[in-house]
Amino acid sequence: MGKIIYLEHAATTPVDERVVRKMEPYFTELFANPATKWTSSISKKVNEAIEEARKNVASLINASPEEIIFTSGGTESDNTALKGIAFANKDKGNEIITTPIEHNAVLKSAERLHELGFVVKYASVDSKGFVDPDEIRKLITEKTLLVSVMHANNEIGTIEPIEEIGKICKEKGVYFHTDTVQTAAHIPINVEKMNIDLLSISSHKFYGPKGVGALYVRNGTKIIPYMDGGGHESGFRSGTLNTTGIIGLGEASRIGKEEQGKRESYIKELRDTLIQKVMEEIPAVYLNGPGDNKRLPGNVSLIIQGIINEPLLVALNERGIIAGGGSACSAGKKKPSHVLTSIGVAAGDLSSVIRMTLGKDNKKEDIDFIVESIKEITKGLRNLSPFWEEK
Ligand code: PLP
Repeated sequence: MGKIIYLEHAATTPVDERVVRKMEPYFTELFANPATKWTSSISKKVNEAIEEARKNVASLINASPEEIIFTSGGTESDNTALKGIAFANKDKGNEIITTPIEHNAVLKSAERLHELGFVVKYASVDSKGFVDPDEIRKLITEKTLLVSVMHANNEIGTIEPIEEIGKICKEKGVYFHTDTVQTAAHIPINVEKMNIDLLSISSHKFYGPKGVGALYVRNGTKIIPYMDGGGHESGFRSGTLNTTGIIGLGEASRIGKEEQGKRESYIKELRDTLIQKVMEEIPAVYLNGPGDNKRLPGNVSLIIQGIINEPLLVALNERGIIAGGGSACSAGKKKPSHVLTSIGVAAGDLSSVIRMTLGKDNKKEDIDFIVESIKEITKGLRNLSPFWEEK
């Protein structure tokens, strides 16, 4: 395989070698089930490593270790937060508030709750994807149980005003959940300062292994488990622990906390150079989402008018550049993106969107090659199009 320039970090990231090294012994010599810690010395060691991982995840978001529950990833954490709160508190009300640009793990959970008799209200988003905290305030009634607003959007990179929304939820006495799958270890998160009650994390988005994540649940929150069984995770999430995965998540969190600031400024600089150069070099290119500090450090989402994204992505792939269309999180579905339609992208532009999400291992010196490649391929595709006329 030739050189690869990977620009799909919002879909998944490679596992950091330091994380792999930390996980390795737990596949073989330290394989024991941590649940039998009282009888086996190997289990005791595994159990200690799990608790160290829990501390590291907690520390990443300024929580206490006992508030961290290990799950199979972002999807399970989102499902548990919405359904667990709704079912546990149904004697108090029946309303859930969310937004139309959430990941499907939240949207489909909300739809399921609606089928089961709960009322779901959607706060609108503006053309950059921002939620207005005042609208959330107005939507909350005495029947509202939970507000769920993502920290940042996986397609267009918009960072939501989580702190303001958290403050409103606290004042109104409703639970606040946020999906931080795209932000954990990428930008600072503080559950105290942001008044967050529940928060979803996924390890594979910040250089940890796939199929493992965490749900933060503030002490004292009334919630019921999503997985019933042997009573693992203090009865909250049954199932033998994914020890290697959890230890990987813990190590990725430790490294992420240590390197977050450095990574953030490096990746932001790459992002801004890439956006600026593509927009300078190619006519009729537009940025989706905000263009400033309210944008995820690694997110570049562009409409390149006059092209269909698929042939562009295939041609980029032939040059070793791996980019994406909208989001990769919906199991390859070809439906128009609900995020792009919610921010009002014109129907004719929906299949002209390219998403490039940068990571810590991308190189400054590759930016010119990426821009040049997009420019050449776009020119070729536009020349072939009977509808395209250079203005
Ligand atoms: N939430 C967001 C914002 C995401 O981008 C993803 C991506 O896959 C998920 C949730 C689902 O996480 P997981 O892949 O760990 O189930």
